[in-house]
Amino acid sequence: MQTLIGSNDLGSFIFTYSYVFIFGACLGSFFMVVGLRLPQKENLITPSHCDNCQTKLKPWHLIPIIGYLFLRGKCSNCHQKIPVIYPLFELLTGMLFTIIVYLMKFNQETIIALLFISLLLICTVSDISARKILNKITYPAFILFLILRLTVSQLNPWWFALVGAGIGFTILLGLGLLSFAMLNQKGMGGGDIKLFTVIGVVIGPLPLLVVLVSASILSLLYVGVDFMITKKLKRKLPFGPFIALSSVLVYIYISGMWQQVMHLF
Ligand SMILES: [Zn+2]
Repeated sequence: MQTLIGSNDLGSFIFTYSYVFIFGACLGSFFMVVGLRLPQKENLITPSHCDNCQTKLKPWHLIPIIGYLFLRGKCSNCHQKIPVIYPLFELLTGMLFTIIVYLMKFNQETIIALLFISLLLICTVSDISARKILNKITYPAFILFLILRLTVSQLNPWWFALVGAGIGFTILLGLGLLSFAMLNQKGMGGGDIKLFTVIGVVIGPLPLLVVLVSASILSLLYVGVDFMITKKLKRKLPFGPFIALSSVLVYIYISGMWQQVMHLF
Protein backbone atom coordinates (compact mmCIF):
# COMPACT_ATOMS: atom_id res chain seq x y z
CA MET A 1 0.00 0.00 0.00
CA GLN A 2 1.27 3.41 -0.91
CA THR A 3 1.45 5.76 2.07
CA LEU A 4 0.13 9.28 1.69
CA ILE A 5 3.29 11.01 2.83
CA GLY A 6 5.42 9.10 0.40
CA SER A 7 7.56 7.48 3.07
CA ASN A 8 7.32 4.17 4.86
CA ASP A 9 9.31 5.40 7.78
CA LEU A 10 6.97 5.21 10.76
CA GLY A 11 9.24 7.42 12.87
CA SER A 12 9.21 10.31 10.42
CA PHE A 13 5.47 9.81 9.90
CA ILE A 14 4.77 10.18 13.64
CA PHE A 15 7.22 13.08 13.95
CA THR A 16 5.72 14.98 10.99
CA TYR A 17 2.11 14.63 12.08
CA SER A 18 2.84 15.30 15.76
CA TYR A 19 4.52 18.51 14.64
CA VAL A 20 1.55 19.48 12.45
CA PHE A 21 -0.87 18.70 15.30
CA ILE A 22 1.07 20.75 17.87
CA PHE A 23 1.41 23.61 15.37
CA GLY A 24 -2.37 23.51 14.74
CA ALA A 25 -3.23 23.31 18.46
CA CYS A 26 -0.99 26.34 19.22
CA LEU A 27 -2.65 28.28 16.40
CA GLY A 28 -6.06 27.18 17.71
CA SER A 29 -5.18 28.76 21.05
CA PHE A 30 -4.18 31.96 19.21
CA PHE A 31 -7.36 31.94 17.05
CA MET A 32 -9.45 31.74 20.22
CA VAL A 33 -7.62 34.77 21.64
CA VAL A 34 -8.08 36.70 18.36
CA GLY A 35 -11.78 35.75 18.05
CA LEU A 36 -12.53 36.71 21.68
CA ARG A 37 -10.37 39.80 22.12
CA LEU A 38 -10.48 41.57 18.76
CA PRO A 39 -14.26 42.35 18.90
CA GLN A 40 -13.70 43.83 22.41
CA LYS A 41 -10.75 45.88 21.07
CA GLU A 42 -8.48 44.17 23.62
CA ASN A 43 -4.75 43.83 23.12
CA LEU A 44 -3.75 40.54 21.51
CA ILE A 45 -0.29 40.49 23.03
CA THR A 46 -1.11 40.85 26.75
CA PRO A 47 -0.66 37.49 28.49
CA SER A 48 -3.78 35.41 29.15
CA HIS A 49 -5.31 35.77 32.60
CA CYS A 50 -8.16 34.37 34.67
CA ASP A 51 -11.40 36.20 33.80
CA ASN A 52 -12.46 36.10 37.44
CA CYS A 53 -9.41 37.12 39.54
CA GLN A 54 -7.15 38.46 36.73
CA THR A 55 -4.25 36.19 37.82
CA LYS A 56 -1.82 35.88 34.93
CA LEU A 57 -1.34 32.36 33.60
CA LYS A 58 2.13 30.84 33.93
CA PRO A 59 3.93 29.94 30.68
CA TRP A 60 3.30 26.20 31.11
CA HIS A 61 -0.43 26.89 31.64
CA LEU A 62 -0.50 28.28 28.12
CA ILE A 63 0.57 25.01 26.48
CA PRO A 64 -2.45 23.97 24.39
CA ILE A 65 -4.62 21.20 25.91
CA ILE A 66 -1.86 20.19 28.40
CA GLY A 67 -2.10 23.55 30.22
CA TYR A 68 -5.80 22.90 30.85
CA LEU A 69 -5.12 19.37 32.11
CA PHE A 70 -2.27 20.69 34.28
CA LEU A 71 -4.68 23.17 35.93
CA ARG A 72 -7.37 20.44 36.13
CA GLY A 73 -9.75 22.88 34.42
CA LYS A 74 -9.59 25.50 37.20
CA CYS A 75 -7.75 28.77 37.89
CA SER A 76 -4.77 28.04 40.16
CA ASN A 77 -5.62 31.04 42.34
CA CYS A 78 -9.42 31.40 42.68
CA HIS A 79 -10.41 27.93 41.38
CA GLN A 80 -12.88 29.43 38.91
CA LYS A 81 -13.66 26.83 36.23
CA ILE A 82 -11.94 27.35 32.85
CA PRO A 83 -14.43 26.74 30.02
CA VAL A 84 -13.79 23.29 28.52
CA ILE A 85 -14.36 24.83 25.07
CA TYR A 86 -10.78 26.25 25.18
CA PRO A 87 -8.92 22.89 25.14
CA LEU A 88 -11.59 21.38 22.85
CA PHE A 89 -11.08 24.19 20.34
CA GLU A 90 -7.29 23.67 20.47
CA LEU A 91 -7.82 19.94 19.97
CA LEU A 92 -10.21 20.57 17.06
CA THR A 93 -7.78 22.95 15.33
CA GLY A 94 -4.87 20.53 15.81
CA MET A 95 -6.94 17.68 14.40
CA LEU A 96 -8.20 19.70 11.42
CA PHE A 97 -4.63 20.76 10.53
CA THR A 98 -3.43 17.15 10.82
CA ILE A 99 -6.28 15.75 8.69
CA ILE A 100 -5.81 18.43 6.00
CA VAL A 101 -2.05 17.82 5.71
CA TYR A 102 -2.54 14.03 5.79
CA LEU A 103 -5.15 14.04 3.03
CA MET A 104 -3.75 16.83 0.84
CA LYS A 105 -0.03 16.26 1.47
CA PHE A 106 2.26 19.26 1.21
CA ASN A 107 1.40 21.36 -1.84
CA GLN A 108 0.20 24.86 -2.79
CA GLU A 109 -3.47 24.08 -2.23
CA THR A 110 -2.65 22.86 1.30
CA ILE A 111 -1.57 26.43 2.16
CA ILE A 112 -4.97 27.71 0.99
CA ALA A 113 -6.79 24.95 2.91
CA LEU A 114 -4.97 25.73 6.19
CA LEU A 115 -5.48 29.48 5.83
CA PHE A 116 -9.13 28.95 4.90
CA ILE A 117 -9.84 26.79 7.96
CA SER A 118 -8.02 29.39 10.10
CA LEU A 119 -10.23 32.19 8.75
CA LEU A 120 -13.40 30.17 9.36
CA LEU A 121 -12.38 29.25 12.92
CA ILE A 122 -11.61 32.86 13.90
CA CYS A 123 -14.88 34.14 12.38
CA THR A 124 -16.84 31.38 14.17
CA VAL A 125 -15.38 32.37 17.56
CA SER A 126 -15.95 36.11 17.07
CA ASP A 127 -19.47 35.61 15.70
CA ILE A 128 -20.52 33.32 18.58
CA SER A 129 -18.86 35.41 21.30
CA ALA A 130 -19.68 38.94 20.06
CA ARG A 131 -21.98 38.51 17.03
CA LYS A 132 -19.31 40.11 14.89
CA ILE A 133 -17.30 39.08 11.85
CA LEU A 134 -14.63 41.71 11.76
CA ASN A 135 -13.35 43.79 8.83
CA LYS A 136 -9.91 43.50 10.44
CA ILE A 137 -10.09 39.80 9.57
CA THR A 138 -12.12 39.71 6.33
CA TYR A 139 -10.36 42.58 4.48
CA PRO A 140 -6.79 41.19 4.79
CA ALA A 141 -8.19 37.70 4.12
CA PHE A 142 -9.83 38.92 0.91
CA ILE A 143 -6.57 40.39 -0.40
CA LEU A 144 -4.50 37.37 0.70
CA PHE A 145 -6.81 34.76 -0.84
CA LEU A 146 -7.24 36.79 -4.04
CA ILE A 147 -3.45 36.92 -4.51
CA LEU A 148 -3.07 33.21 -3.71
CA ARG A 149 -5.97 32.21 -5.98
CA LEU A 150 -4.60 34.24 -8.89
CA THR A 151 -1.02 33.00 -8.46
CA VAL A 152 0.05 29.90 -6.53
CA SER A 153 -3.14 27.81 -6.66
CA GLN A 154 -5.73 28.84 -9.24
CA LEU A 155 -9.31 27.71 -9.62
CA ASN A 156 -10.26 26.20 -12.97
CA PRO A 157 -10.81 28.54 -14.83
CA TRP A 158 -8.75 31.11 -12.91
CA TRP A 159 -11.36 33.89 -13.13
CA PHE A 160 -13.81 31.81 -11.02
CA ALA A 161 -12.15 33.43 -7.98
CA LEU A 162 -13.32 36.86 -9.20
CA VAL A 163 -16.79 35.63 -10.19
CA GLY A 164 -17.11 33.84 -6.82
CA ALA A 165 -16.30 37.07 -4.98
CA GLY A 166 -18.76 39.07 -7.10
CA ILE A 167 -21.56 36.55 -6.66
CA GLY A 168 -20.91 36.15 -2.93
CA PHE A 169 -21.05 39.89 -2.38
CA THR A 170 -24.07 40.54 -4.63
CA ILE A 171 -26.29 37.70 -3.41
CA LEU A 172 -25.64 38.28 0.27
CA LEU A 173 -26.09 42.04 -0.08
CA GLY A 174 -29.35 41.38 -1.98
CA LEU A 175 -30.58 39.00 0.74
CA GLY A 176 -29.60 41.52 3.43
CA LEU A 177 -31.49 44.36 1.71
CA LEU A 178 -34.48 42.11 1.05
CA SER A 179 -34.75 41.01 4.69
CA PHE A 180 -34.39 44.64 5.75
CA ALA A 181 -37.13 45.76 3.36
CA MET A 182 -39.53 42.92 4.21
CA LEU A 183 -38.95 42.46 7.94
CA ASN A 184 -37.53 45.89 8.73
CA GLN A 185 -34.73 44.25 10.65
CA LYS A 186 -31.10 43.57 9.99
CA GLY A 187 -31.10 39.94 8.90
CA MET A 188 -27.78 39.53 7.17
CA GLY A 189 -24.91 41.34 8.88
CA GLY A 190 -22.23 43.22 6.95
CA GLY A 191 -19.71 40.73 8.33
CA ASP A 192 -21.59 37.80 6.76
CA ILE A 193 -21.55 39.57 3.38
CA LYS A 194 -17.79 40.16 3.53
CA LEU A 195 -17.05 36.63 4.75
CA PHE A 196 -19.12 35.25 1.88
CA THR A 197 -17.16 37.38 -0.57
CA VAL A 198 -13.89 35.87 0.70
CA ILE A 199 -15.34 32.33 0.56
CA GLY A 200 -16.34 33.05 -3.06
CA VAL A 201 -12.70 33.80 -3.89
CA VAL A 202 -11.54 30.53 -2.32
CA ILE A 203 -14.12 28.08 -3.70
CA GLY A 204 -15.64 29.81 -6.74
CA PRO A 205 -19.26 30.58 -7.70
CA LEU A 206 -21.06 27.21 -7.88
CA PRO A 207 -19.73 25.70 -4.63
CA LEU A 208 -20.51 29.06 -3.01
CA LEU A 209 -24.18 28.67 -3.87
CA VAL A 210 -24.10 25.18 -2.31
CA VAL A 211 -22.59 26.73 0.83
CA LEU A 212 -25.36 29.34 0.96
CA VAL A 213 -28.13 26.75 0.62
CA SER A 214 -26.60 24.27 3.08
CA ALA A 215 -25.80 27.00 5.65
CA SER A 216 -29.44 28.12 5.48
CA ILE A 217 -30.70 24.55 5.88
CA LEU A 218 -28.31 23.89 8.81
CA SER A 219 -29.37 27.10 10.60
CA LEU A 220 -33.07 26.24 10.13
CA LEU A 221 -32.43 22.72 11.45
CA TYR A 222 -30.65 24.21 14.46
CA VAL A 223 -33.57 26.59 15.15
CA GLY A 224 -36.02 23.66 14.80
CA VAL A 225 -34.12 21.36 17.16
CA ASP A 226 -33.53 24.23 19.61
CA PHE A 227 -37.28 25.00 19.57
CA MET A 228 -38.16 21.36 20.28
CA ILE A 229 -35.79 21.31 23.27
CA THR A 230 -36.35 24.78 24.79
CA LYS A 231 -39.88 25.54 23.46
CA LYS A 232 -38.63 29.02 22.63
CA LEU A 233 -38.05 30.33 19.13
CA LYS A 234 -34.58 31.78 18.59
CA ARG A 235 -35.01 34.79 16.31
CA LYS A 236 -31.46 36.06 16.26
CA LEU A 237 -28.74 33.60 15.50
CA PRO A 238 -25.13 34.12 14.42
CA PHE A 239 -25.00 32.90 10.83
CA GLY A 240 -21.18 32.67 10.76
CA PRO A 241 -20.83 29.20 12.34
CA PHE A 242 -23.26 27.72 9.79
CA ILE A 243 -21.41 29.40 6.92
CA ALA A 244 -18.13 28.05 8.32
CA LEU A 245 -19.38 24.46 8.75
CA SER A 246 -20.96 24.39 5.28
CA SER A 247 -17.81 25.87 3.74
CA VAL A 248 -15.65 23.19 5.34
CA LEU A 249 -17.94 20.41 4.06
CA VAL A 250 -18.07 21.86 0.53
CA TYR A 251 -14.31 22.46 0.49
CA ILE A 252 -13.64 18.86 1.62
CA TYR A 253 -15.65 17.73 -1.40
CA ILE A 254 -14.24 20.05 -4.08
CA SER A 255 -10.60 19.85 -2.96
CA GLY A 256 -10.47 16.09 -3.51
CA MET A 257 -10.07 15.35 0.22
CA TRP A 258 -13.33 13.41 0.14
CA GLN A 259 -12.02 11.12 -2.61
CA GLN A 260 -8.87 10.57 -0.51
CA VAL A 261 -11.04 9.52 2.45
CA MET A 262 -12.94 7.09 0.19
CA HIS A 263 -9.61 5.62 -1.01
CA LEU A 264 -8.67 4.81 2.57
CA PHE A 265 -11.55 2.34 2.90
ZN1 LIG B 1 -8.81 33.11 38.98
